[in-house]
Amino acid sequence: MNRESFPSELIKAVRSAERVAVLTGAGVSAESGVPTFREAQTGLWLKYKPEELATAEAFLRDPLMVWEWYAWRRGRVEDVQPNPGHVALAQLEKILTERGSNFTLITQNVDGLHQRAGSRNVVELHGNIRRVKCFDEGIVVNTWDDDGERPPRCPHCGAMLRPDVVWFGENLPIHALQKAYQAAELCGVFFSVGTSGLVQPAASLPMLALAQQAIVIEVNPQETPLTSSATYALMGKSGEVLPGLVAVI
Ligand code: NAD
Repeated sequence: MNRESFPSELIKAVRSAERVAVLTGAGVSAESGVPTFREAQTGLWLKYKPEELATAEAFLRDPLMVWEWYAWRRGRVEDVQPNPGHVALAQLEKILTERGSNFTLITQNVDGLHQRAGSRNVVELHGNIRRVKCFDEGIVVNTWDDDGERPPRCPHCGAMLRPDVVWFGENLPIHALQKAYQAAELCGVFFSVGTSGLVQPAASLPMLALAQQAIVIEVNPQETPLTSSATYALMGKSGEVLPGLVAVI
């Protein structure tokens, strides 16, 4: 998209906002080749539903199988690279913070691609597949032995280690959620990028921003429940729309 594709009022709003918040979802990683939950079920895992693997009950029933599913997904995420959409968001953060604005990137993704692209102020609502934590105490463990017992054991208490992601039926990390609500409440401009707006509580964040009179900009090739209320709906792929926008900010 070129300069003419973006309304001048939109450009002005982004340039002058003291606080900018961005919410991203699985769509922003689609152009990197990170499969969505449903697309991820191939080969060996085809016969399992994600909802039957991504729960504490499933892990307690069959810890080895759930650990192996995450190890396989972790491997797939490590094999891919951030795409131009991730890079543009990192550039937008750099440009706006250098000009004195506050910038918060809230993501539902667990793939760590925003950080790999250079984003700094990232709030992970659903955890990170590249981290593990103690099943009993929730303490994050930085290194583990992948060649020994599976799942590996917590070096502090001996309980099983599990992926540091939010499973179905679990609460979101409270600190991350508070930061996300605060960013949505205080921002002048809110971007919703590559998210279907169906998963709560993330889906309520653009609504909160709208209620506080923020300008809400959606980037998505498809319509979502947010589209009709967004101030601007930029219909396109994040890897194409965002670099064009950054070029004119
Ligand atoms: P979703 O799958 O419900 O929706 C994805 C949205 O992205 C859709 O609206 C789609 O139109 C849009 N989209 C597709 N390609 C796009 C592109 N190139 N550019 C911009 N938008 C594009 O995703 P969600 O809203 O994030 O919710 C799904 C849940 O699954 C989340 O909880 C998330 O944590 C989890 N998940 C994460 C990953 C990941 O970490 N990459 C992958 C799969 C699922």
